[in-house]
Amino acid sequence: MSADINALDAPVTSLKGVGEALAAKLGRLRIASVADLLFHLPLRYQDRTRITPIGTLRAGHEAVVEGDVVAGEVVRGRRRSLLVRLRDGSGILSLRFFHFSPAQQQQFQPGVRVRCFGEARAGATGLEIYHPEYRLLSADAPPVEDHLTPIYPATEGLHQTRLRALIEQALSLLDEQPEALPDWIDSELRRRFGLPELHHCLHVLHQPTPDINPAQLASGQHPASQRLALEELLAHRLSLRQVRLRIQKDGAPRLPSGRNLQARFLTQLPFSLTGAQRRVLDEISVDVAGETPMLRLVQGDVGSGKTVVAAMAALSAIAGDCQAAMMAPTEILAEQHFRTFRDWFEPLGIEVAWLAGKLKGKARLDTKAAILDGRARMVVGTHALFQGDVHFQRLGMAIIDEQHRFGVHQRLALREKGEAGGLTPHQLVMTATPIPRTLAMSAYADLDVSVIDELPPGRTPVKTVVVPDERRPDVVARIRHACAEGRQAYWVCTLIEESEVLQCQAAEATRDELTEALPELAIGLVHGRMKAADKAAVMDAFKAGELDLLVATTVIEVGVDVPNASLMIIENPERLGLSQLHQLRGRVGRGSTESFCVLLYHGPLSANSRERLAVMRETTDGFRIAEKDLELRGPGEVLGTRQTGLAQMKIADLERDAELLERVAPLADALLLSHPDASQPLIRRWLGEEAGRYGQV
Ligand code: ADP
Ligand code: MG
Repeated sequence: MSADINALDAPVTSLKGVGEALAAKLGRLRIASVADLLFHLPLRYQDRTRITPIGTLRAGHEAVVEGDVVAGEVVRGRRRSLLVRLRDGSGILSLRFFHFSPAQQQQFQPGVRVRCFGEARAGATGLEIYHPEYRLLSADAPPVEDHLTPIYPATEGLHQTRLRALIEQALSLLDEQPEALPDWIDSELRRRFGLPELHHCLHVLHQPTPDINPAQLASGQHPASQRLALEELLAHRLSLRQVRLRIQKDGAPRLPSGRNLQARFLTQLPFSLTGAQRRVLDEISVDVAGETPMLRLVQGDVGSGKTVVAAMAALSAIAGDCQAAMMAPTEILAEQHFRTFRDWFEPLGIEVAWLAGKLKGKARLDTKAAILDGRARMVVGTHALFQGDVHFQRLGMAIIDEQHRFGVHQRLALREKGEAGGLTPHQLVMTATPIPRTLAMSAYADLDVSVIDELPPGRTPVKTVVVPDERRPDVVARIRHACAEGRQAYWVCTLIEESEVLQCQAAEATRDELTEALPELAIGLVHGRMKAADKAAVMDAFKAGELDLLVATTVIEVGVDVPNASLMIIENPERLGLSQLHQLRGRVGRGSTESFCVLLYHGPLSANSRERLAVMRETTDGFRIAEKDLELRGPGEVLGTRQTGLAQMKIADLERDAELLERVAPLADALLLSHPDASQPLIRRWLGEEAGRYGQV
């Protein structure tokens, strides 16, 4: 290959012996270029660099062993096997083969010297290795390996030996053309941040010398793996920053004068704002008075009153002759927000529109027309708001509720809705899932954060009890009692099967069962497969107090607000994540009566489930719950990885590498200061061409 072609950027097919079929298999491992092979790091290592005396071997150890065959014979135990006894002077070991050929059986004549590799285990004859890799040795035995043997993530039809050979080829190319893979963290920065050099790290990780502890390498604690993980986190951070810069390059409408309208709104509210709400609103006012688009995340526990904050932000846009849009992740929630906003805004003479996927035909056309000609000043909806056929006259404020369900890209799509009017809307993102600080630093690096750290007055914390399924009759009695006192209750059926159909059927069965057990109560049912209008009708009836008990699937998880409901039963809570349970539980405890949450589990519980339910019983602090959730389930689950892109990390592990996150921000700052041009190639290296392009303005 000629030196002016970058051998590492070339596709894998440029390597010897790689055709389309193999390239396709590599593609399954997300390896497209030669450089991608270099970043395909081992999962773990085997130590084949030394021969272990049989006498020092322990069960569970993987080792290379060398010895002379004492006997090789077919034995008939429960399963027929070939048993080879091997002796090396320090002890005796058995090799056992359950599958073997006559030729193999012939090989193991007494006195033949064998070198083998495998994991020793306690077997019928003492220590045994099942199906070892082995070779017969002649007088001039080849040397053992001179470095630890990497074990790579592999895929069907693509085995370790093949991968190893390809990666070795890539490493030789790297040695020939070191400049083809620049270390974008230059020597000065490496010195300041105490980081090893890139090529050195790659060599260490693919071909570690025997003095390196394989366990340290595999656990990601070795400086070489830490350096690569840090570089990956850096790339993610730079990419988010780029998104932010790209958004902020555009002008936003200045919205300095919402005061009058906001004041009129506040006087008609039945309550006054909490200090925390006022503080967050002040932060928002400062943002929207400027010419750069606001990018703000409002974090507030379930029930902390984020909707009012959203309404106030919307009013600042409406007062500034712009439209405001609020997007919610589910139809139920969008519908509820629509009603809330209509009740709040129509008295102020502001038209509120609703848009969701299910809105069809003429109603949809009318709504779209009202959005386009600006009659609809406030628009509430689901992600249907993103669709290409929805055009705003002049969108000034885009509000996204329950952010963890949407990704950066969807937020950008909403931003583009403002472009027709030559403006980039301000963005307000609201979430009840408190994001642990370390995650906030990476996933939300492009947002400023405000926190509503105070609940409205008069709330009593929800009391939570954990009850086994056998005590269902007691729980039913409790509902009867609560409803007799004029209170309302939820009964939440969680996912029993992976299928939504079955889940809805289960909810129907529960409704029937409860209707029979509690004939004096009015019981409603709401689940994901009902028509939007039917769902809304049931929710309305519950809100109006016409229903005593609402049986529901987890569709009610987010945002539903019925203050008179003070009892919630959650069936099979062990199936849900903590944050989800916290969200659900947040549906009660919204009024001033004491509220209860019954976690009705189906035993026996695993240790992990027991621990999770105990957390729910002990605390109502959303932040603690989120941290515990992170600890017990990992960031992917907690944040809904697909959307955030965090699952796609190749090397970094947000939990394991939490410490590294602290170093990412200063490293990013330093890099942008000294080498702004390194940002783009780093993003491309770790997030792909797509993300690289995406950042171009
Ligand atoms: P969340 O933050 O979970 O979205 P909501 O905005 O739905 O919370 O508010 C929960 C409930 O608290 C609603 O009934 C809302 O009207 C009420 N609320 C909000 N702010 C206040 C306040 N300052 N004082 C009293 N009640 C409030
Ligand atoms: Mg809410």
